[in-house]
Amino acid sequence: MRLWNRRGERSRNERRRQQRGDNSEVVRCSLPPPGPRIFSVATQIIRKAQETGVVKFAVNGVSEQHPCVIPCFWPPSLVFLEVTKLLSVMKEFFSAVPGAAVGEIGLDKGSHGKKIDFMDQVQVFRQQLKLAKELERPVSVHCVRAFGDLLEILQSEGPFPAGLILHSYLGSAEMVPGFAKHGAYFSFSGYLTSMKPQKAKKMLKMVPTDRILLESDAPDGLPQLKGCSLSCVPGDASIPQEQPVHSGTTNIDSKGTLNHPANISTVLGYVATLLEMPEDELAQVSYRNAMHLFSYPGSKISEEAALL
Ligand SMILES: [Zn+2]
Repeated sequence: MRLWNRRGERSRNERRRQQRGDNSEVVRCSLPPPGPRIFSVATQIIRKAQETGVVKFAVNGVSEQHPCVIPCFWPPSLVFLEVTKLLSVMKEFFSAVPGAAVGEIGLDKGSHGKKIDFMDQVQVFRQQLKLAKELERPVSVHCVRAFGDLLEILQSEGPFPAGLILHSYLGSAEMVPGFAKHGAYFSFSGYLTSMKPQKAKKMLKMVPTDRILLESDAPDGLPQLKGCSLSCVPGDASIPQEQPVHSGTTNIDSKGTLNHPANISTVLGYVATLLEMPEDELAQVSYRNAMHLFSYPGSKISEEAALL
C-alpha cells in the first residue's frame, strides 16, 4: 500500500483509506530507544507518525503508556549489574508486563560499546538470549562491528523460535544466510544510507522476503540522503532557529539532528528502490512480518494478527 509519494504528499489510496477511517492495514516495526531526548514530546511524535501511516510502535525500554506501543524491555544500563541480579530484575519486569518483548540487547565494538569489556558483553548477552528463549518472546538485537561473534553465539544459543530481530542491520550480504538459518529477521533503518548503495543492494537482495522489517531507530538513525524531506522532532536544539522546529516537515541533514519515527517513510522509499520493489508491496511485507513477529502469546496485537 502506498502511504506517501516521493514528494511527501498523501497518496490517493491513503486519502481514501483515511476517509474510511481505516488504518489497520499498516504497521511498520519501529524500534527507537526513546530516552530523555524525546520523552517529553513522545505524544506529539506518536501523533505525527500516525498521520504518516504508522499504527504500531515497538519501543525499547519503555512502559505501555500509549496504546499503540508494544514495549520491549532491557535498559542498557542494567549491563552494569551483576548477572544473576540482572536476570532476577528483568524477570520481575516481564512478569509485571507479560505483553512485553525483549530488547534491545546485543554486542557493540563501536565507540559506545568500547566502554564495556567485550567479554562482559558476551557473558550478559548469552544470559539475555537464554531468558528470551525461556520467555518465548521475540528479542531485538543490536550489533555493531561484531557480526562474526554474534553468529557464533547464535549458533550455540539458538534456535530462537519466537524470533530474533537484527535491528538496524548493517552486516554483509555473505552473513545473511547464516543469520537467517537461526530465525533472524533483518530490520533496516536510516543507518542503511551510510552503506554504499551497491553493497546495501547486494545485501538486501539476499534477505528472504518473510524476514524483512523496517524501523526508524528514532531518535537515532536519521536518514542521510541528499535532498530528501524529513520530519523533525519538536524542540530539537540542533536545528537552526530559522528552520521550523515544530512537528512539521523540513529539509534537514545535520548528523546531530534527532530522528523522528515518521521518517520511516524515507527508509521505506530507499529500501524499495534498492530492492526494485513497489513501496506499497514493501510496506505490506514489513507490516505482515512485524505483525507475525509481535503476535506472541500475551501480546496486545495477537488478536489483530490472527485476522490477517
Ligand atoms: Zn541499537
